[in-house]
Amino acid sequence: MAKWETREDSVNSEIRRPDPRYLDKGLTTQCVHAGERWPEARVWTPNTPIYRSTTYFYDCAEELDDRLFNREPGYIYTRGGNPTQSALERALSTLERADATRVCASGMAAVHLALVAAGAGPGRPVLCSADVYGSVFTLVQNILPGLGAPTRLADLADLHRLEQLMMEVKPAIVCFEVITNPMTKIIDAPAVIEMAHRHGAVVIVDSTYTTPYLLRPLEHGADYVTHSLSKYLSGHGDVLGGSVSCHRRDYDHLLFTAIQIGATLSPQDCWLVQRGLKTFSLRIARQCESALQVARHLETHPLVDRIWYAGLPNHPQHETARRLFPQGRYGAMLNFDVANCQTREQVFAFLDALQIILPATSLGDVYSLIVNPARSTHNWLNQEEKSAMGIGPGTFRMSVGIEEPEDLIEDLDRALAACQ
Ligand code: PLP
Repeated sequence: MAKWETREDSVNSEIRRPDPRYLDKGLTTQCVHAGERWPEARVWTPNTPIYRSTTYFYDCAEELDDRLFNREPGYIYTRGGNPTQSALERALSTLERADATRVCASGMAAVHLALVAAGAGPGRPVLCSADVYGSVFTLVQNILPGLGAPTRLADLADLHRLEQLMMEVKPAIVCFEVITNPMTKIIDAPAVIEMAHRHGAVVIVDSTYTTPYLLRPLEHGADYVTHSLSKYLSGHGDVLGGSVSCHRRDYDHLLFTAIQIGATLSPQDCWLVQRGLKTFSLRIARQCESALQVARHLETHPLVDRIWYAGLPNHPQHETARRLFPQGRYGAMLNFDVANCQTREQVFAFLDALQIILPATSLGDVYSLIVNPARSTHNWLNQEEKSAMGIGPGTFRMSVGIEEPEDLIEDLDRALAACQ
């Protein structure tokens, strides 16, 4: 008997047999139902499968009723929750030491969700760091006021001024990034959180740059922490996502808000983020080390006027950074001013000379990425506003990837020489 014939009745054939529940049904019914929901299909895989189903059913009507009336945890409809989504949310809650997390379609959706959940609206002023991601700046400056929320953007790095600002603005909500975008300033998060709470405000921290590898804002008392999952946590530049994590006291309201405004992330994208997350701490450790090496090189380079990297002792908030990040890792974003780089031709010459570092927006990927904020992320600011933020024509923001740092340094040296 041929070897394959002995397998004819094996257990492996069993799982491919016709579905007896639908054998006597019509063709269309068979097409819709046959093979699905096999009662003994208990499968454990190392990673959570992508559950694409939008709806769920239970063994009996009472079990569904228990979920509909919140007597038992479970799934009803994917906008409210989905097993692939829960796997990612549990992972993020673990990393952030949060009581719960909600994921949504982008980092911007996460910031928006957190602001709405925190009650941004008429009579609830929002005080936001001016040195934040461009779209967050626009959301606070242009969109929230249209919804009735008074807003104020200001420098939150100066604690003395901040105390006065709190008395003046009387914020209901304070939001900021700990390592700021684009200037990589360091905000003294515990001090700002303490001050905001003393003035009765709810605190939202966008921790996209810091990641849970450097700091966990909820442990410092923040009320909500948001991420653009499109960056370090997924890490491969192939998925958009966002998350909001919080304490138990706020989660029911956050979830209620998310479900009603439709802030969710597709199961496919949850799966991609969680796949990237598995190597997150390995990637970020390497990225932080390489960033320090690149920063040290640029610090002494004759064609670099100025470098901002919190790991360098000459960074204005280096001491704050040392206190906030005691493990001695300072992130993988840096900013530098190229000497004599004033014109658009010089900026283009710099970018076009790069062979490894990609001149593209975004950050936190395995690839190193670089942008000229004045011509990209912050091109909507006028000259005065750019100067106030410290953004010059020859300022570049670099996201250090996982490549060999020596190759990145060689690439930067080539570009620095090319734009003179
Ligand atoms: N927050 C920060 C600090 C960011 O850098 C970004 C995007 O670059 C966002 C939020 C928005 O994230 P997303 O692009 O996923 O909406």
